[in-house]
Amino acid sequence: MQYIRPLSIEDAVGVISNTAGTVAILAGGSDLLVRMMGGFVEPDLIVDIKAIEGLSEIRETSEGFKVGAAVPCALLGENAALRKAWPGVVEAANLIGSKQVQGRCTIVGNLCNASPAADSVPALVSAGAKAMITGPKGDRTLPVESIPTGPGKTSLTKGEIVQAILLEKRPAHSGDAYLRFIPRTEMDIAVVSAAVNLTLDQQGVVASARVALGAAAPTVLLVEEAAKVVVGSKLDDATLDTLAAVCSDACRPIDDKRGTIAFRRKVAGVLAKRAAAIAYARAGGK
Ligand SMILES: Cc1cc2nc3c(=O)[nH]c(=O)nc-3n(C[C@H](O)[C@H](O)[C@H](O)COP(=O)(O)OP(=O)(O)OC[C@H]3O[C@@H](n4cnc5c(N)ncnc54)[C@H](O)[C@@H]3O)c2cc1C
Repeated sequence: MQYIRPLSIEDAVGVISNTAGTVAILAGGSDLLVRMMGGFVEPDLIVDIKAIEGLSEIRETSEGFKVGAAVPCALLGENAALRKAWPGVVEAANLIGSKQVQGRCTIVGNLCNASPAADSVPALVSAGAKAMITGPKGDRTLPVESIPTGPGKTSLTKGEIVQAILLEKRPAHSGDAYLRFIPRTEMDIAVVSAAVNLTLDQQGVVASARVALGAAAPTVLLVEEAAKVVVGSKLDDATLDTLAAVCSDACRPIDDKRGTIAFRRKVAGVLAKRAAAIAYARAGGK
């Protein structure tokens, strides 16, 4: 097994393209190392991306935020501007594991590990985040929801590395929120989760919305019908009840010892409703 720590993205892509065997990209390692220790994966080459220039930075530009692929989730929580603009994304990233895990893990690793229950992914999907990707055939930028294609599977091709996550500059009166259900208080995988991102007009009416559910299907669900329900409303009780019902209907969850299908459906609706109310308040709605 080979390990490299390239200093540039071009070097990383070049080495991966010229390697015949299995290649694994190493960010925080909180998924990869666990899978290696468990014997589920044995890469021929490990490419540690943490020394690549620019990948460990959060940059605020005129267009929004660029969160490098090697930025640990803990640093998201320490960035006041990011916390203010995208509180739902930051709270989701800061729910992953423990403080120790957050010191290593990344939102890009969370996305590329492609677990249906990944905490930051519904928040990123509801935020309309994009992934900047570099590979042997050049660069491309994709909506984050098009990266995971099923449990443990992504649309990335060999040699492609996600460089950063892009979060756009927010209009005034915007807010987002993420909630998950776990049977314990911490250190557990979401049984089901919901993220809501809203922008209001001057009167507090919802002008645009994105609603995403986690652990409710093989990949995160972007529930467009739910967004339509809340747009044009001030999130009155009847609207919230309809939102919950639409989200429950949209779920296609698994049935296991952590939650039955009926339970997951019910809780998805409840969480969507609560997350919407939090996002609305964060956007300045009353
Ligand atoms: C104790 C513990 C608790 C956890 N709790 C949670 C939790 O509560 N919620 C949750 O969602 N997850 C949890 N996890 C899982 C894990 O911490 C997260 O999925 C984390 O965000 C992964 O990020 P990472 O940087 O460590 O990824 P890594 O392990 O480095 O990589 C994960 C996968 O993504 C690929 N990858 C990484 N970076 C890139 C890139 N730039 N381009 C392309 N592919 C890439 C890797 O090759 C690998 O396949 C937990 C893990 C542990 C060990």
